Amino acid sequence: MARDQDFRVRFWGVRGSIAAPGPATVRYGGNTSCIELRCGSRLIVLDAGTGLRALGGQLAAEAPLDADLFLTHTHFDHVCGLPFFKPFFQPQNRFRLWAGHLGGTYTLQQVMREFMMAPLFPVPPEIFKAAVEYRDFHAGETLAPAPGITVRSAPLNHPNGATGFRIEYAGKAVCYITDTEHVPGSPDRSVRSLIEGADAVIYDSMYTDDEYARLYVGWGHSTWQEAVRLCKPAGVKKLIAFHHDPEHDDDKLDAIGREIAAAMPGAFLAKEGMEIVI
Ligand SMILES: [Zn+2]
Ligand SMILES: [Zn+2]
Repeated sequence: MARDQDFRVRFWGVRGSIAAPGPATVRYGGNTSCIELRCGSRLIVLDAGTGLRALGGQLAAEAPLDADLFLTHTHFDHVCGLPFFKPFFQPQNRFRLWAGHLGGTYTLQQVMREFMMAPLFPVPPEIFKAAVEYRDFHAGETLAPAPGITVRSAPLNHPNGATGFRIEYAGKAVCYITDTEHVPGSPDRSVRSLIEGADAVIYDSMYTDDEYARLYVGWGHSTWQEAVRLCKPAGVKKLIAFHHDPEHDDDKLDAIGREIAAAMPGAFLAKEGMEIVI
């Protein structure tokens, strides 16, 4: 039984853009974005990439579940696990799916129907047996998914939009900032205000500064060096680099891990299976 003040994070998918399984990525993991948060006995899931499938396998044994799943956005690598999430097929469960990046152009339910539709996908979301509610909001709003849990949000700089989150529970704060592109030399003020004084910040560190400048301006992602530039002056205790480039193998990530730890005490790379007590 979880103690009420327990605030934990577990990584089920840490890879950006596309799953990258295989011997060269086995230590950091190949699954795309999915994070489990436990706020006492409450469950919150962040993003629904391929990592969601394995999380669902574990959660199926915990039914009945009543939980919230926050999507940063609906790019494929953040939603493709949804049709394979076992708890959606258990009638005793209740989920709320939240998205704040659609700006009223679409509803989240419309996007789900279009993504789970022939000839892209064989079955529609109506096959889910759990009660699944779709909740649209505008990035920037503050949400209260359950008593004692506050979720602040902010829009991120990403093609088609994305939402950054700050989840506050038991006097602690965890921020989830992916996918987002920085402007070199001009720290993102809304990200800076969201992460101020946070206990942990999980940040889009897809590239190095050098790769970004040479190859990836305008691709919608950031760098581990920018993560340090944002988190150090904001007094962040733990910086967790996330959304690893599928082209970065374990040895490359080990090298980045050494550099980020030297640049900021308390900074390290997310790994699939890693659990952190906040
Ligand atoms: Zn992504
Ligand atoms: Zn994206």
